[in-house]
Amino acid sequence: MDTPAVRTTCPYCGVGCGVLATPRDDGTVAIAGDPEHPANFGRLCSKGSALGETVHLDGRLLEPQIGGKAASWDEALDLVASRFNAVIREHGPDSVAFYVSGQLLTEDYYVANKLMKGFIGSANIDTNSRLCMSSSVAGHMRAFGSDTVPGTYEDLELADLIVLTGSNLAWCHPVLYQRIAAAKVRRPQMRVVLIDPRRTMTADIADMHLPIRADGDTALFVGLLGFLAKEGALDHAYIERHTTGFAAALGLASFCDLDVISQHTGIAPDQLLAFFTLFARTERCVTVYSQGVNQSASGTDKVNAIINCHLATGRIGRPGMGPFSVTGQPNAMGGREVGGLANMLASHMQIENAGHRRLVQDFWASPAIAARPGLKAVDLFKAVGDGRIKALWIMATNPADSMPEADHVAKALKACPFVVVSDINAETDTTAYAHVLLPAAGWGEKDGTVTNSERRISRQRPFLPLPDKAKPDWWIITEVARRMGFAAAFTYQNPAQIFAEHAALSGVENKGSRDFDIAAHAGISARAYDNLAPFQWPQSQHAATGGGRFFADGGFFTPDRRARFVAVPPADTGVIDQRFTLNTGRVRDHWHTMTRTGKSARLSAHFAEPFVEMHPLDAAGRGIADASLVRLNNDYGDIVVRALLTDRQARGSVFVPMHWTNQFARSARVDTLVTSRTDPVSGQPALKMARVDVQPFEAL
Ligand code: SF4
Repeated sequence: MDTPAVRTTCPYCGVGCGVLATPRDDGTVAIAGDPEHPANFGRLCSKGSALGETVHLDGRLLEPQIGGKAASWDEALDLVASRFNAVIREHGPDSVAFYVSGQLLTEDYYVANKLMKGFIGSANIDTNSRLCMSSSVAGHMRAFGSDTVPGTYEDLELADLIVLTGSNLAWCHPVLYQRIAAAKVRRPQMRVVLIDPRRTMTADIADMHLPIRADGDTALFVGLLGFLAKEGALDHAYIERHTTGFAAALGLASFCDLDVISQHTGIAPDQLLAFFTLFARTERCVTVYSQGVNQSASGTDKVNAIINCHLATGRIGRPGMGPFSVTGQPNAMGGREVGGLANMLASHMQIENAGHRRLVQDFWASPAIAARPGLKAVDLFKAVGDGRIKALWIMATNPADSMPEADHVAKALKACPFVVVSDINAETDTTAYAHVLLPAAGWGEKDGTVTNSERRISRQRPFLPLPDKAKPDWWIITEVARRMGFAAAFTYQNPAQIFAEHAALSGVENKGSRDFDIAAHAGISARAYDNLAPFQWPQSQHAATGGGRFFADGGFFTPDRRARFVAVPPADTGVIDQRFTLNTGRVRDHWHTMTRTGKSARLSAHFAEPFVEMHPLDAAGRGIADASLVRLNNDYGDIVVRALLTDRQARGSVFVPMHWTNQFARSARVDTLVTSRTDPVSGQPALKMARVDVQPFEAL
């Protein structure tokens, strides 16, 4: 008889859908959407539905390896601990680093962060979520005084206007797209505006598509602020009572002439007028943004330009309205909660706040606490390349493909004296550089929690046995910590104990901002943890129920409880030359570097090989035929992909998906073309856009 269904959570995007997984006697796994999960109410997208096809063991890393040869766990763990200790002794704590991932569960993340910041004494732990949403984190901090996402998925169904900017929701957050599409049928007054250089599949539900020039978002929203002021659409009472900095922000918005904004954004003046008027007249409005906003050298300014428009109209903290950053990864939000970014401490505390540092150190009874922010992802790999980092541990991610200037990152890894990689796969472009490989548990075997884009914490539960010698990430990190000499603080026997400690830390006295608070679970038992139903934070000791609406009372987490307008300059100029603008992104049926979705023939059938989308007229001008091979190159890299001609692509720009690696197609790693330019506030790299030459491959 088949095992009963196990309630768990999808490991792909930040929607965080509930999944019912039923292992069958024949070794396969039946997958269905969980009708009781508040993120998806039974829905799944193509990736989630195919999860059962990705849990087989082909290509899995199933035993520890040292120098490419099988080793015991004791040998591998002893070596990692002794090499890290030796490097720290000789060169200091800042000579080592962890690079972690939004694929880790919150409990894994918590233990890794505790080891690095509290016991090694460095903040050199950063995450691939830096590449995904760190500009939103920085924008929230600047405006709200805390990294608080005010929105919920229900707001998307209550809104009369949804503005989607830099977000192909139909492919990247498909169940949210389905929820909006269904709400639009129920509520015909709802309007959707899509702001995107490409006419993506998301345009199918849009009433208006604004084909914005890459990086034109700041000018658009600064221009919108000026328009709102001119049209008398501001909420002066709200601005007066609950915010500061409005005059300076409006001062920079005074260029609101539509022709000027059109020059900055590439959007026609009549389209601008239609959008601005709709925004001004629609009270219930949610602005959803994602990587098209965040992955930019001005990502944080873009985020604040959006938030400014909501503060200026008082459209925040109420049902059906607010700015809403949706996260890319399944546990990007969980990583933020435990301080998985190099510039944050656990539980939303600040590394540059001496009181917070003392509080965390006391709570952990740790010998040290990182005194200053560590290296953010791009700088971290530069430090690997120039020899400052001498021992690096990479967990559940593939930076040799996914970082900007990926070839330089691969070279840095090759030169690094000691590289440890924990992964589920034996062969990625990153495992090739590992001195020690540690086999980690995969989805279906892991046990812990994740947090989705609307702050909802859900359990990932195991329904398969750990294969061969694979171990959970929290166990691997705990064992290394013990061997490094920190056994007394790393006594965890199961993830429930880690979650209980994480929850207790969120409720400590004198923490200041109480936006992240799950102290109601501080004493959680293993049994209660097993049964934990999805819930939204905050959920403090004193609250009978979780969730609630942030900023409903007009109070924010700044010292004076007022939100901050940020005066951002009106335009991003960028470098314009004769080359094409390369836009990078995802396809519907693949996830990141395809280490899991590449195992499903069904998912791989959607796009069988890497491609470049190009407007037919641009292609004709270059002598490029549909389905022919095309070369894209610049100073950083050189790739060859198949031409896919479509008028969904704007003239002068091309699109290449991010997924293909050397495992699946040689010479198609698009991130080799992207520079390592970063946003000066968040450190997020400008992965969305590059300038490239495009030519027929045959002409070479
Ligand atoms: Fe998974 Fe995201 Fe699809 Fe939901 S929408 S099933 S979380 S990939």
